[in-house]
Amino acid sequence: MAKIIDGKAIAAKIRGEITAEVAKLAASGVTPGLAVVLVGEDPASKVYVSMKEKACKDVGIFSDEYKLPADTSEKDLLILIDKLNHDPKIHGILVQLPLPKQIDTEKVLEAISPEKDADGFHPYNVGRLVIGKPLFQPCTPYGVMVMLKEAGVELAGKEVVVVGRSNIVGKPVAFMCLQQNATVTLCHSKTRDLAAKVGMADVVIAAVGQPEMIKGAWIKEGAVVIDVGVNRVGEKKLVGDVEYAAAAERASAITPVPGGVGPMTITMLLYNTLESAKRR
Ligand code: NDP
Repeated sequence: MAKIIDGKAIAAKIRGEITAEVAKLAASGVTPGLAVVLVGEDPASKVYVSMKEKACKDVGIFSDEYKLPADTSEKDLLILIDKLNHDPKIHGILVQLPLPKQIDTEKVLEAISPEKDADGFHPYNVGRLVIGKPLFQPCTPYGVMVMLKEAGVELAGKEVVVVGRSNIVGKPVAFMCLQQNATVTLCHSKTRDLAAKVGMADVVIAAVGQPEMIKGAWIKEGAVVIDVGVNRVGEKKLVGDVEYAAAAERASAITPVPGGVGPMTITMLLYNTLESAKRR
């Protein structure tokens, strides 16, 4: 039976370390600051934003919230970002996605100063990640890497199979594993014989967004399984992208959903904000 990689416990440990570092920095006169921008009324986005605000408060990071109406123009949003880029109290800027249709998301992400890009989505930071010289690393994949490290999983020479190639999870986590000297296979919806690809993996990282589509029977005996997926089934139940119970029978270690990768994402946002303040 697989060991459970407990994201909540790892996140709590790291948040404790962040709290101590924030206090130390504050004593020297710098309080890390994160600006969180929410446009519109998307219910899931509202929940994420309030979780981020609370997390900042808990570790002593100053958070400045901007809640803008759904009909905000792209121009007004860009003006706000420019103001935040120049605000010395702010070390990280986060624009909650998705944005309303009238706003070009790429334009907005590129307007954020690369030096305050706490989400790591600016092309400058994506490029630095690809060449192995990261500045800000995107929070969810960064959280995955920290979990692997905390679980004692050595990646050098291992076969890592990532399922999902989004810009926010699949692609960056693949480059991060490559940087750790893994041999990486990046799968997507056009990949042929996914079961065979997953079956050769020493480490499987699932970021698909489809409930339990990666079957437990595909997992190689002793593999490590990291499940980024969060899928709501029915009223209240959350499941990952991996068929958990069956996969846990074969894996050596596995992340649960919920309580796996989820708690790490906001933790790494706090970490990115702290590191940015330290660089200033
Ligand atoms: P996207 O929808 O952006 O990407 C999904 C990827 O999965 C795409 O690359 C797609 O391929 C691929 N895919 C879809 N169907 C299949 C299939 N049948 N076989 C193989 N690949 C397939 O999702 P995200 O990366 O944004 O998110 C993935 C999951 O992670 C979601 O459940 C999301 O909720 C969760 N998530 C969790 C976070 C956390 O904090 N825990 C943070 C971010 C995301 P193609 O490119 O060909 O379309």
